[in-house]
Amino acid sequence: MRIANLSDRLVLVVDGLAVDVEEASGGRFSADPQAVYDRWNEFRQWAARAALPGGNRFDPARLGSPAPTPRQVVAAGLNYRDHAAEAGFALPETMPPVFTKFATSISGPVTEVTLPPGGHTDWEIELVVVIGVRAHRVPAGDAWSHVAGLTVGQDISERVTQLEGPSPQFSLGKSFPGFAPIGPSLVTPDALDDPDDLGLRCTVNGEEVQKSRTSDLIFSVPELLARLSSVMPLLPGDVVFTGTPAGVGLGRDPQRWLAPGDELVSTIEGIGELRQRFVAQP
Ligand code: ZN
Repeated sequence: MRIANLSDRLVLVVDGLAVDVEEASGGRFSADPQAVYDRWNEFRQWAARAALPGGNRFDPARLGSPAPTPRQVVAAGLNYRDHAAEAGFALPETMPPVFTKFATSISGPVTEVTLPPGGHTDWEIELVVVIGVRAHRVPAGDAWSHVAGLTVGQDISERVTQLEGPSPQFSLGKSFPGFAPIGPSLVTPDALDDPDDLGLRCTVNGEEVQKSRTSDLIFSVPELLARLSSVMPLLPGDVVFTGTPAGVGLGRDPQRWLAPGDELVSTIEGIGELRQRFVAQP
């Protein structure tokens, strides 16, 4: 199953066409894209059996994040060996570094992003998990049953803000408006051939800068959820960024930052793509 947020309304995406959930369910499920996660298993059962009307074509630019207003956004750093090495950090052994991207940074999948003046703005393609069932002290073997689905995220990062001062400011440097594009749709794990092995790829102006597979994660999705939920309950609709592979601008020689006019395209196999164009602050 595939769901999306089309002009702030929850839709099922069937063969690339959008079916409005509130209309198709006769009002049983709300149009609010975030509210569905509080009734996730009930919604899944309904969607699996419902006789759906034909869908409508839509413009991807009208999509919002499939989880637009989560109660918590949790992001893991240094979760691929090659990225930890390029960033100059030791590998995490029991828990990756964890930070948040504040919820005001969330956007849909096709956007224009304003570059902070004087900043060094960088890209980080990431697999994003959305929680479907509250997870607290969940073992890795049971973690997938708490996942609503997977989607594509960009952990856009302004490195000057992130790294200046006496200790790094991961959350702040990664939370400018538009720095957390998510989408285009949310795909349930059963709809993917192998949800633990998805190809990720990101390009700047058509040039490939990141390419990896989620099977290279140090903490796989279930391992990451087990470790996070050993500390904090993960709530329905929460968003988890799982970390980025090598190839970010910070790790290059010479370093490279996004500039006005650049186009960033981030793709995950079986899910879809994000498309960001960067502009100078007027
Ligand atoms: Zn990241």
